[in-house]
Amino acid sequence: MARAGVPAGACAVAGYPALPVIKLLILDVDGVLTGGELTYDERGCLTKTFHVQDGGAIRSWQKAGGRVAIISGRTSAAVAERARELQIDLVAQGVGDKLPVFEKFCREAGVSAAEASFVGDDLLDIPPMRRCGYPIAVANAVPAVKREARYVTERRGGAGAIGEVVRRLLRHNATRDKCC
Ligand SMILES: [Mg+2]
Repeated sequence: MARAGVPAGACAVAGYPALPVIKLLILDVDGVLTGGELTYDERGCLTKTFHVQDGGAIRSWQKAGGRVAIISGRTSAAVAERARELQIDLVAQGVGDKLPVFEKFCREAGVSAAEASFVGDDLLDIPPMRRCGYPIAVANAVPAVKREARYVTERRGGAGAIGEVVRRLLRHNATRDKCC
């Protein structure tokens, strides 16, 4: 039986923080799934560059039973296409206030905020990072975002940071599965 004060699904073993298994991984795009550069082609269309290993990591997370969502402050057809390719169905673009969308995606995925991890790099990401169970900042995040993070990646956004995030969360979840 869970101890008083420990949320359902959280580890109650002494020595471990009361943090549940993470089920939903929510990603910012610019500076997290990309390096943060905004590149426009000759027709004025925004192009984005994604890292192939991040895609493989996202598929691994999904195969392990995890859900993935994207919340971006900008709007780009490239993001919609990348999400389609990776079978990510929780996608919101052009979002000024990310917290309500974070909460909506948690509801749609059937998870609590504590069962979600948010990966960010910039100030708009702070509200959902404060609300989620496992806030993560990428290496290139601004200092204020790094201060909110439980973990800061060694790799930069767009350079394999999400692979590192997935390995970290899978390790975290394996520990929780064993001790709860
Ligand atoms: Mg960003």
